[in-house]
Amino acid sequence: MKLNGISLNIQPEEMTVSEELDPHEVGDQHLMTSIETPMREGAFDLSDEEKKKEIEKHFRSIMHVLGLDLTDDSLKGTPARVAKMYVEEIFSGLNPENEPKVALFENKYQYNEMLVEKNITLYSNCEHHFVPIIGRAHIAYISSGKVIGLSKLNRIAQYYAKRPQVQERLTVQIGKHLQEILETESVAVIIDAEHLCVSSRGIQDVNSSTVSAFYGGEFEKKSTKNELFNYLK
Ligand SMILES: [Zn+2]
Repeated sequence: MKLNGISLNIQPEEMTVSEELDPHEVGDQHLMTSIETPMREGAFDLSDEEKKKEIEKHFRSIMHVLGLDLTDDSLKGTPARVAKMYVEEIFSGLNPENEPKVALFENKYQYNEMLVEKNITLYSNCEHHFVPIIGRAHIAYISSGKVIGLSKLNRIAQYYAKRPQVQERLTVQIGKHLQEILETESVAVIIDAEHLCVSSRGIQDVNSSTVSAFYGGEFEKKSTKNELFNYLK
């Protein structure tokens, strides 16, 4: 496993930051304020169609303020395209209706070894800058008697990635969701990602990546962790 960035082993209780922090500091340091995605009340009062219309209007204003000519054939359709992409694709994971439906199967073969799904490609967006986070996730669990299709691990990871995110929150949200549906504490999630807000702007470090990890149940034991790291090599 590549560990050329910062390694973060997150304990949920350590994850809240105090309210006295300056919002600019929070954004620059990519801190998060809660494990739950901060949603306002009435987040789903508008339908997806209504949201797209509103976003289109506002994005058109942003382009206009930047000085772009919105009558140009190349730019004309951009506000509508961005609105559609936000609501239907890259931020579709904000809507609980899009949560993947998961069927559990009985673990008939009594396979109670570790199951590992490696190298799940993740595209998310930094909630502080709204630019991409591109990375890979490795997910592992030890079955408590129930298993899910491996593609579902992928789908659940994608669901949480399709929100404005902070990498640590993304890691924990995937881990906690899997603990719940798999009915086991023994879940591990490791994400290694590049943040374009770090590589393309700000400090412009093109070589750094950030590693975050969530370990529950058996994975808190060093021997189990080492077994996982062997699979990931
Ligand atoms: Zn950022």
